[in-house]
Amino acid sequence: MAVQTTNHLLRRGMGKDWRDLATYRAAGGYQAVKKAHQMGPAAVIEEVKQGSVRGRGGAGFPAGIKWGFLPKDSDKPRYLVINADEGEPGTFKDTYFLKEDPHRLIEGCIIACMALNAHACYIYIRGEFAEQIRTTWKAIRDCYAAGILGRSVMGIPFALDIYVHPGAGAYICGEETALLESLEGKPGRPRMKPPFPAVIGAFGSPTIINNVETIAAVPLVIEHGAAWWTALGVDRDGGPRLVGVSGHVERPGLFEVPTGTNLKDVIYELAGGPLGGRAIKAVIPGGSSCKVLRGDEIDVPMTIDGLRAVGSMLGTCGIIVMVEGTCIVRALQRLSHFYAHESCGQCTPCREGTGWLARLVDQLEAGTAKQGDVDTLLDVANEIDGNTICALGEAAAWPVQSYVAKFRDEFQAHIDHHGCPYGDHPTPGGFDVPGLPSVSPHA
Ligand code: SF4
Repeated sequence: MAVQTTNHLLRRGMGKDWRDLATYRAAGGYQAVKKAHQMGPAAVIEEVKQGSVRGRGGAGFPAGIKWGFLPKDSDKPRYLVINADEGEPGTFKDTYFLKEDPHRLIEGCIIACMALNAHACYIYIRGEFAEQIRTTWKAIRDCYAAGILGRSVMGIPFALDIYVHPGAGAYICGEETALLESLEGKPGRPRMKPPFPAVIGAFGSPTIINNVETIAAVPLVIEHGAAWWTALGVDRDGGPRLVGVSGHVERPGLFEVPTGTNLKDVIYELAGGPLGGRAIKAVIPGGSSCKVLRGDEIDVPMTIDGLRAVGSMLGTCGIIVMVEGTCIVRALQRLSHFYAHESCGQCTPCREGTGWLARLVDQLEAGTAKQGDVDTLLDVANEIDGNTICALGEAAAWPVQSYVAKFRDEFQAHIDHHGCPYGDHPTPGGFDVPGLPSVSPHA
């Protein structure tokens, strides 16, 4: 059966420049702000709850419930912060809104701020996204000029300022509390939780942090209603998903599909199938920190529960495909160096452990590892897992655990043959994987 695609969030190919405010408004843009004002904050939050809007940043927490965590009795200002860091390898969905449809995000920010009674919103954008930063700033300036932002939002007695805050290129600033530290002008190091940001967030005030795609969905939920949104998804997970496919496929790209679409169908039908018609060896289903699946494990629905049932995660729906001929140790080497490089160094298991992982995988790939080193590799990963301040520790450990669990023979072959069975890379028989970060010499 052909995979159904939709274009509610991903509006490429409609022949319109959505960056242009007049174009956006002509298609009904910013009307949901007026509707949200008429509904009132409590009804907007309830609509988002009923629409089962799950966070699209990887954790999948319901947005409406998160919004309800703001303390009712605090007299401090409240903030909305948009996490537009998008540094997870294999993930490239939020960049679409920042670069091609920024008003959808801004409209969502306005509705969310009115619901939260927040009068300032910060959009924290990954530093490398120069064009996305420029485009989003331009859209915000256009909104100020049109009276959509500022002392009165579209004539409504509600003041709102939106700021773009460029990051400085650290992956860890995608972790919400490290992002807040960075926003405050400090080094991006994750905070201990609790307290959670909803209670003590930006500048010591209650703060809601949402992912770009999550907030971009809000105008649609308000415009069309919760029932319409939930019908586009599955139980307790409403709406469609933006799915990015990279790696060894014929047509890598970004697609919008109903939540619950089959992972294998997305790869074979939308992304054109594996490169050169080869068999699929492995798939990372939701961004590089998710546990890897073997090629025979991908016939699953893309839902939180569906991916959990096969021992992985839906994550950010950033799918990385590897075909037969790919050295799985080499793929892990690239990831391990990435996480070692991006560790903030604040806690010992991550700071030391990620470097150990990278060096052990280096030795495996170079053929200098000794018998028993695969177990040592697993031991180090297991010591990191669950013993760190933030999830970067798990992001480094889970690939190791799953790659070894699924492809242990290949790791052992590197020891037994004193080197990589696939030879140097790239070779006709051995693929590097586009989408995975390159090996850094710094770990
Ligand atoms: Fe920093 Fe790693 Fe500890 Fe996270 S787990 S706080 S990135 S050292």
